[in-house]
Amino acid sequence: MSAIAATLGARAAERPVLRERGQREVFCGLTGIVWLHRKMRDAFFLVVGSRTCAHLLQSAAGVMIFAEPRFATAIIDERDLAGMADANAELDRVVGRLLERRPDIGLLFLVGSCPSEVIKLDLARAAKRLDRSASPGVRVLHYSGSGIETTFTQGEDACLAALVPELPAEAPEAPEAPRSLLVVGALAEVVEDQLRRLFAALGIGPVRFLPPRLAAELPPAGPRTDFLLAQPFLAETARVLEERGARRIAAPFPLGAEGTTLWLRAAAEAWGVAPDRFREATAAGEKRAREAVGRHRAALTGRSVFFFPDSQLEVPMARFLARELGMEPIEVGTPYLHRQHLAEELELLPAGTVLSEGQHVERQLDRCRAAKPDLVVCGLGLANPLEAEGIATKWSIELVFTPVQGYDQAGDLAALFTRPLDRRDRLRV
Ligand code: SF4
Repeated sequence: MSAIAATLGARAAERPVLRERGQREVFCGLTGIVWLHRKMRDAFFLVVGSRTCAHLLQSAAGVMIFAEPRFATAIIDERDLAGMADANAELDRVVGRLLERRPDIGLLFLVGSCPSEVIKLDLARAAKRLDRSASPGVRVLHYSGSGIETTFTQGEDACLAALVPELPAEAPEAPEAPRSLLVVGALAEVVEDQLRRLFAALGIGPVRFLPPRLAAELPPAGPRTDFLLAQPFLAETARVLEERGARRIAAPFPLGAEGTTLWLRAAAEAWGVAPDRFREATAAGEKRAREAVGRHRAALTGRSVFFFPDSQLEVPMARFLARELGMEPIEVGTPYLHRQHLAEELELLPAGTVLSEGQHVERQLDRCRAAKPDLVVCGLGLANPLEAEGIATKWSIELVFTPVQGYDQAGDLAALFTRPLDRRDRLRV
């Protein structure tokens, strides 16, 4: 770690945090399937769960009804719960039928849920068994999307962490062989393509992405891999990558003009890119982003925002709103505060902003009502009651469903926060 990064991290570590434990209002990790199945074109997500799990997925991904679905739920019914049926035999049958009908599947995830955890169905063993019978054409992996003590973006973390042991080793070359860059976190393809062009202009490469678009394109990882997190909720994935010897490049997240520049600069510094080349490669994108964000400043500057813990994107979003749009973050609540991964972000948050980790929803609602924020960013469960009380809200899940990373999405990101305020202002007229 550079001396500067060490100092930043130390200062960020001193920031007081309000820690709360109590009732929480969040979606579970199954939600991640909605964006992950779009990203990995030959992956299939088979949730081993209940009718509730199936309903959650169907309503969250309702827009996909015209496509050949790439997720389904194997329902655990009362007989399974009562231990009267052999759940493993049924699972084998379901998977067998699925793979027979869908030769396009290259990677099958068995996704655990609350019910599969309750009946202690060993999906790790099931995945190994099914992997043996389905190989070499299909890989079968597993992870948990259960809502027991997790939040919805952890589904992506669990899924990517399950992929890491499957990544091929780096080619056995001399130790001085060139390093590669791995961008970690599901990004929309349009964002990925823009980032590829920027890294190429910087002379950084080879650049690979996790998750890849196809199972057959799993990127290699090892001691000659540097990785940049594109999302702040990938603690477990980062940990297992580090176990394989890969090195995390510490950086803020690529949200907004400033965040994207700082994220790219962290990679450029690790690669020894000359400052002139860096400016040349990023100046036009940064200018476009600043102009697009600037169009929303009049609507947002001076207005206050309160974040309830939900997506784990809260800290970088608050940093973006404060520094690029002049908003005042009153409280930034996040389900988990990963001090190391967020050190650079915490350093950029206004000093007076309250940071809270975990949730005691009633107490937080009291603080929110007392603060009377102009905008609340929260989960769907809280949005309706707060709207009914006259408070404008933004659903945090939209921040994950919408492509918001990089220069060319910075204006769209700002617009996500302008819209609810605009709607409320119009309702008042
Ligand atoms: S995994 Fe748990 S929290 Fe998620 S839908 Fe199923 S039962 Fe509900």
